[in-house]
Amino acid sequence: MDVDDDGYDMGQYGASRLRGLLRTCQAHKENVVNALKLGGGIIGVLLFFSIVRALVQPTTLPSFEVVSSPNDNRVHKYVVLPNGLRTLLVSDPKCDQAAAAMDVGVGALEDPVERQGLAHFLEHMLFLGSQKYPMENEYSSYIHRNAGSNNAHTAQSSTNFYFTVHKNSLEGALDRFAQFFIAPLLNPNGAAREVNAVNNEHTKNLQDDNWRMWQLRKHLANPEHPFHKFSTGNLETLDKQDTLDYLWAFYQQYYGSASNMRLVVVGQEPVPQLQEWVQQYFAAVPAKSPFVPQPANVPLWAETGIKVLVQPIADVQKLLLVWELPPLLKKYRAMVPQFVRYIMAGQFEGSLYHHLKEQNWVEGIDLDVNNIRGFSFLDVEIFLTEEGVKHADDVTRAWFQYLRLVQEQGLKCKIWKRQLEMEQLSFRFQQKPKLEDFVSDTATDMQTLEAADILGSPKNFKCDEQLLRTVFASITPSSMLQFIVSSVPYSLDSHEPIYGTSYSKHRLNASLLMEWSVAKPTADMALPGDNSYVPKVFTVFFNPENKHEISRLHTPAGLVAWHQPSQYFADPKLVFTCLVTYPHLRTNITATLLLSIYAALLNDLLEAPLYPASEAGMSGGYDATGITLQLLVSGYTDPSSKVLMVLLMAAKRSLFTKARFDVMKEQLVKVQLNKKFDNAYVYALRVLRPVLLTSPSATPAEQAAILNATTFEQLEEFVTSLAEAPNQIQCLGFGNIIQTQVTEYSTQVAATFQRVPVDETHSKDFIVLPEGRDTTVDVPAPNPDDVNSVLLSIYEFPVKSSTDAMALELIQFILDQDAYAQLRTQEQLGYVVGTYGTTVHAQRYNVSLYQVLIQSGEQSPQYLDERAEAFLSSAVDILYEQTDDELWNAKVGLWQSKWPVPLKLTEEFQTVFTEISSHTFQFTRAWDEGQALGDITREHVLEVYDRVLLNKEKRRKARLLIYGKGKTADPSERSMNPVSLDGLKQWKEGLDMLRG
Ligand SMILES: [Zn+2]
Repeated sequence: MDVDDDGYDMGQYGASRLRGLLRTCQAHKENVVNALKLGGGIIGVLLFFSIVRALVQPTTLPSFEVVSSPNDNRVHKYVVLPNGLRTLLVSDPKCDQAAAAMDVGVGALEDPVERQGLAHFLEHMLFLGSQKYPMENEYSSYIHRNAGSNNAHTAQSSTNFYFTVHKNSLEGALDRFAQFFIAPLLNPNGAAREVNAVNNEHTKNLQDDNWRMWQLRKHLANPEHPFHKFSTGNLETLDKQDTLDYLWAFYQQYYGSASNMRLVVVGQEPVPQLQEWVQQYFAAVPAKSPFVPQPANVPLWAETGIKVLVQPIADVQKLLLVWELPPLLKKYRAMVPQFVRYIMAGQFEGSLYHHLKEQNWVEGIDLDVNNIRGFSFLDVEIFLTEEGVKHADDVTRAWFQYLRLVQEQGLKCKIWKRQLEMEQLSFRFQQKPKLEDFVSDTATDMQTLEAADILGSPKNFKCDEQLLRTVFASITPSSMLQFIVSSVPYSLDSHEPIYGTSYSKHRLNASLLMEWSVAKPTADMALPGDNSYVPKVFTVFFNPENKHEISRLHTPAGLVAWHQPSQYFADPKLVFTCLVTYPHLRTNITATLLLSIYAALLNDLLEAPLYPASEAGMSGGYDATGITLQLLVSGYTDPSSKVLMVLLMAAKRSLFTKARFDVMKEQLVKVQLNKKFDNAYVYALRVLRPVLLTSPSATPAEQAAILNATTFEQLEEFVTSLAEAPNQIQCLGFGNIIQTQVTEYSTQVAATFQRVPVDETHSKDFIVLPEGRDTTVDVPAPNPDDVNSVLLSIYEFPVKSSTDAMALELIQFILDQDAYAQLRTQEQLGYVVGTYGTTVHAQRYNVSLYQVLIQSGEQSPQYLDERAEAFLSSAVDILYEQTDDELWNAKVGLWQSKWPVPLKLTEEFQTVFTEISSHTFQFTRAWDEGQALGDITREHVLEVYDRVLLNKEKRRKARLLIYGKGKTADPSERSMNPVSLDGLKQWKEGLDMLRG
């Protein structure tokens, strides 16, 4: 839980839905299928569960008008309860999940100096039981039992709690949830344990550069300013004698008034029913007079006009420029953050970014306005190349040169209005965010935004040139903090006390400040031009109410084209993608890496020409995975042919330069080498697991070495050879696109990429772990300074039937909350504690995996495995004692959480696309899994549990053990068939493989 804690990535208003300036082309990875197509089976039973509830006539409450998107069919009502609780009620009869969020207008800024992290600790404590529901984790397990999820985060000035739950279980969830804000237990025993979870969370962040830099900003803030404090807390700040008294005092002072809180509830029931429940369950939230935050009244930074040299953990080079701005939170209708981001960090021709890229100094630019209650600051992150670091001051000068151009010609409502048009367009065709994000962000927004604006409507937005001038005037050399973050060894004389970050601080040279303040723009710098990608035609070809099956179109050999209209969305939008697969590259790791450089170079060429398209809600680009090059166009149907043309033109010409090749290569090498600085558990999942289970595979170090050795000539030769190489192309036109257009687009792609068509393709091989012989892979901490140890246990189950696969996934679903309650809440083994069930579907095999993942700052990984095994042995009783009803509910819960109704076209697309990219083509998978679940008996569950998890003679288990700093393997454990990371390749050669 709480993985997003603290505020560095959530600058309140700026971070929520109105930020969306840089739209990415990554589709959601969730598997979603078209549940409307299905009838009977498990769905039919689900419908049976939808009880029609008696309507209660609620009392009339004061209410506000909200403005929703024309694309939004939910019913909204914004009311104020008698205790002052402002609540948004959202009725959505078609939803499959309900949700709620409470935002409490208090955060780390309110922490007492002598108990830093208290707001965050209290957030954790509220999960541990209430007077009405005293059992620890009763709330979480209710949510989980009913196919939901929950989380919370503590930001600078707000604490946000939220959940999703099966649509029929909202009332019970609201009842339990409300108790957080009415009568929590805050019991001493729970506090004594949970402080370790807070500490483990901090330990997890210790080696994370984002957290370190965030804290360094805080450290350099004015000590009189509340932002100066450390937000998340650890044992040192919280594990003290009377912290419990502090928790109670904090709760009574800041949670004591419903008028500081904002509630959002989404359910299938009509608004009056939702209102009735909210009145019933939240009436007891106290109505004491609200807490009124006091403005800090001191400058945010202790000192400005300074250069700060910083040593990062990972190998990154960046320039970070920071300024305090006038407070902007309340002036959100002037859209200043969006404007600043667009004009100063856009990637259009003539932009600052473009200018810097021409010199090969930068890899990217990111800009955020952090709007926190009472103060704002601008963060500009410019990612530098090796060459760029040597020119950090030149890059800073370029910033001021471009700023001058903007100040002289760009602070115009004419330019601002283009941003407004984009906001209007995206509001008109607004797609729903994930339900948990919707409730959580909206509750936060309700703290600041007028009722009319909380659903993202830009109707009331107004240009304010004077404000723009004031804001830009505050961005000066002498009011700046210039951070240069680089692994280049500087002599650094200071340490930030909480994370130990090495840095040194210097006054910026007066002549440099003078030079920057009078810098003039260069000839190649220009303001953004008109956007020719703005869609004008919004014709919709299909009615989602009608049934649309996927169809395979008639195409020549070696080209397969699929067409599928949406079953959910009547939007003028599409996703068109093609996978170009080169089977002959299959065992050649070097070739797969060259393919990834090729994709990166293509995207690099496309950056400036397609930037306006991204502004207009389009995305387009290339990606390389293994032996497959993917082309993707998504967004509005109208300009899609133009985007496709630009993509294909880039590939036809392939005008690459050695200078850009060097930059791309440097970036890709860094990505590989920096993987070891990820959180250790992330490294276990993303790096070690594929290295263990698939073939061919290479470690990040091996990949970096191969990349480093590649030359520009080699890349050129490779690209030339690709043009003549045999390949297979699979295309999918999804959403608002007609069949003839799919055929036309696919044919254009084939004309660009295909000379020699082939029909067979291969994906990766999967390793069958040895039976009856638990294997241990001992891995020293990839980052030697990281104290965290990790256990990742993998129990593999090569399955013949869907029923077997679903039985294992069902086991994981049933036991997940018990594992969490035992291993995290009770035993406090770590902050990251979870079990994961996955089935890998591929062309010629299916493999189900049950996985236990624990990261601990204190315990050895072997001990973690002992405890996990002890849990698994005892948990057989839980499965044994399951009643028929419980088993049935678990089946429904699992199915629901695997196959939610999609909220976006890209989510719906992803389900179909996954079947194509994995060559499984089982487009009725959701239905099939529902059927398989229906057949599973308790005996079957117990049998699979024994065979896969318990029975040491039969099971196929491998455990990856990462030893944190100071921990080593216990030699008395040698019976566990150890394999070293270096020995893995040889070890895999002796095993069976599922040929893909
Ligand atoms: Zn937390």
